[in-house]
Amino acid sequence: MDLFQYKNGVLYCEELPVDSLPEKGLPTPFYLYSVNTLRQHYKKIYGAFAKLDPTICFSVKSCNNVHLLNELAAMGSGMDIVSGGELFVVKQSNADLSKVVFAGVGKSDEEITDAIISEVGYINIESEQELARVQELAGHLKREVSVLIRVLPDITDQKTNEKTRTGYKGAKFGIDYAAVEALIEENADHPFVKIRGLHCHIGSPISSYTFYQESIQKMVALTASLKRKNIILKVLNIGGGFPANYVDNDNFSWESFAEPIIALLEPYVRNEGFKIILEPGRSISANTAILVTKVLYIKQSGDKHIAILDAGMTELIRPAMYNAFHFIWPVKPEPQHVLANRNYPVEQEGLTNYDVVGPICESSDYLAKERPLPPLQQGDYVAVFTTGAYGMVMSSNYNLHVRPAEIMVDKDKAFVIRERETQQDLVRKMIRHEL
Ligand SMILES: *Cc1c(COP(=O)(O)O)cnc(C)c1O
Repeated sequence: MDLFQYKNGVLYCEELPVDSLPEKGLPTPFYLYSVNTLRQHYKKIYGAFAKLDPTICFSVKSCNNVHLLNELAAMGSGMDIVSGGELFVVKQSNADLSKVVFAGVGKSDEEITDAIISEVGYINIESEQELARVQELAGHLKREVSVLIRVLPDITDQKTNEKTRTGYKGAKFGIDYAAVEALIEENADHPFVKIRGLHCHIGSPISSYTFYQESIQKMVALTASLKRKNIILKVLNIGGGFPANYVDNDNFSWESFAEPIIALLEPYVRNEGFKIILEPGRSISANTAILVTKVLYIKQSGDKHIAILDAGMTELIRPAMYNAFHFIWPVKPEPQHVLANRNYPVEQEGLTNYDVVGPICESSDYLAKERPLPPLQQGDYVAVFTTGAYGMVMSSNYNLHVRPAEIMVDKDKAFVIRERETQQDLVRKMIRHEL
């Protein structure tokens, strides 16, 4: 569910008609965020898992605008980060650094040092050598740091895109399940680096709660075995990858997704004082934004209708990279094409199949293929839905396009939260000097 709905024949973001922004002179393309959708999604996910009293660490890589992070931090959200750059942005936000978890297979010395000095909640350890490096750096600094060991559980959801699976045997993420116990035993007494628990993120999106159950069962088996050796781990970070509604805008039941996971974890929380961390990204941020773009040209190629937009893979790479589906519809369709809801396929007469493409010089630059849409005209504004996650954050300057603006709507008010780049920005770092 999100707050992008057709009212009086035009698409609204909350209480603001979407076409009012380009009509006021805001250049397309731009990302348009609904802050109340963001708030609702955070509350829904927190609410569904509330019995576990979890810490939600929002995955900053899915959506990294500091103003949106502030909104989440204000509701108590922590942050899941994967780089020094993300740590830098999170430090500019109001987030509580003790609720930050830092994952990633290739953290540099600078990133590890920064995390220790910034007193982040936990560093997630992804290899034996990384643990040794953290020990060395924390030792030099004489600063204590808490870590979680990221377990590679050998679990695969076949429905997850191959490019975003992270839990299979042989993946670059985490430490082989069979090697984790010995590693923790050998490193349990380090004076500065305290192993507090386990982390597991098996990919995104994950289609069923059963995969979380499997990975949780593997993690609790490890903690039980270590407990018998007097090594007490009390933090379980079960990762992210919870689904978002890409295909329709109906209510997804978070309660039924969460309930079986809660059933498994609640006894550990209640009886043994386990602390649970969740790292949702897209399930909070995806439905929070649309990409607003304009039809530049319509043409015929062979028997195909091609709609050429002013946005493409440089703004939204997910279709090119993952063959991802995004619902697309005109902002102000003819009255007979106004939508009551966004279910796909759309049951309407008079639609035309379009290949919806961008202006980039690449065949992979498309947003949809053979997509039934109302007849499009040059100059029409078109919304690409569910683009709040892995949209703007993956945008690029390829073909020297400037990156778009990000606009945030709260009820009937719109705020620029990231300015559109200028062509000057494109050459700003092209500075020649001798080394
Ligand atoms: C990407 C990532 C997430 C978030 O995934 P979503 O599908 O956006 O929920 C969580 N944890 C880690 C370690 C990640 O790399």
